[in-house]
Amino acid sequence: MSRIDINRLHVRYGPYEVLSDITFTVSRGDFLAVVGPNGSGKTTLIKTVIGLLKPASGTITFGGKTFSESGLQVGYLPQKSSYADPRFPASVREVVASGLMVQRSNPKRLSAEDFQSVQSVLSMLQIDHLAGKRVGKLSGGQQQRVHLARAMVGKPTLLVLDEPTGALDPQTRECFYTTLMELNRTHRVTIIIVTHDSHSIGQYAKKILFLDRQMLFYGTMQEFHDGPNSQHYFNHSHTEGGRPC
Ligand code: ADP
Repeated sequence: MSRIDINRLHVRYGPYEVLSDITFTVSRGDFLAVVGPNGSGKTTLIKTVIGLLKPASGTITFGGKTFSESGLQVGYLPQKSSYADPRFPASVREVVASGLMVQRSNPKRLSAEDFQSVQSVLSMLQIDHLAGKRVGKLSGGQQQRVHLARAMVGKPTLLVLDEPTGALDPQTRECFYTTLMELNRTHRVTIIIVTHDSHSIGQYAKKILFLDRQMLFYGTMQEFHDGPNSQHYFNHSHTEGGRPC
């Protein structure tokens, strides 16, 4: 993936314009946090970028090509992903493997190489010891790692996450962000994350887009901190230190 150019994007639900005149670029290796109040259009924006919603006007190009021409591999963690029922009859290994199956048309069978991919993503995210466990029996933080593993198993170059830490305690959330930062730095995965958590994501992301149906700010974290309005935008929830991941 070279870069994603979002240019003069407008998105509507029926007559109701949710996003107006959005223009920004995501470069290879970026870690972009999309923040803003409830209803400000964050989910709508990322769904439009990855082709799940159609813009009313404007363009989105991937290295100058359309999404389908670009062949871009995207890992997507939608909002409210959880396996709340402890009886949910799938193991961690099966859930992660299902991330490979969705890419296939036919035959939907896993090869030895696929099992190797599952194993290596479980190791990378330090959940290989959970491989045979029922996913519904895991803690919230462990389940979120399983979702991340499922999104990562197809070796995406772009990872898009929608409020992935909403149900996690502050310490588990920081560990999750640290894992994302490592994926970004070590494996050069480009990351776009939607979060409420504008304070703590600032320590991990490289760039921030502050949205309220239009773009209020787009730039590096440093530029955001140095700007006149950063105190106004940030919520000051403090994170708890202590326990290691
Ligand atoms: P955020 O992710 O920032 O909370 P959303 O993108 O989910 O915001 O929603 C932006 C606005 O669009 C909200 O007012 C929401 O009610 C509205 N909206 C979201 N999805 C739909 C839909 N499918 N149909 C109509 N309106 C929608």
